Amino acid sequence: MAENPFQFDPAELQEWQQRIEEANRYNIWCHCRTCHKEWIASTYVICSCGSKNVEHIACWQFPDD
Ligand SMILES: [Zn+2]
Repeated sequence: MAENPFQFDPAELQEWQQRIEEANRYNIWCHCRTCHKEWIASTYVICSCGSKNVEHIACWQFPDD
């Protein structure tokens, strides 16, 4: 009787999925080319200074090392 190490019980699976969702929600690195402000956002937003000249980089695109 082999146990599958990757099998979650439903509660664990749900918690794990929520963590993934949270990570995905706040993983856009934003950089304003106008005022050079940097922040992490959940969506593609304009800068608080009103500039739309904002660079958006999803965090998962950063190299790992
Ligand atoms: Zn700005």
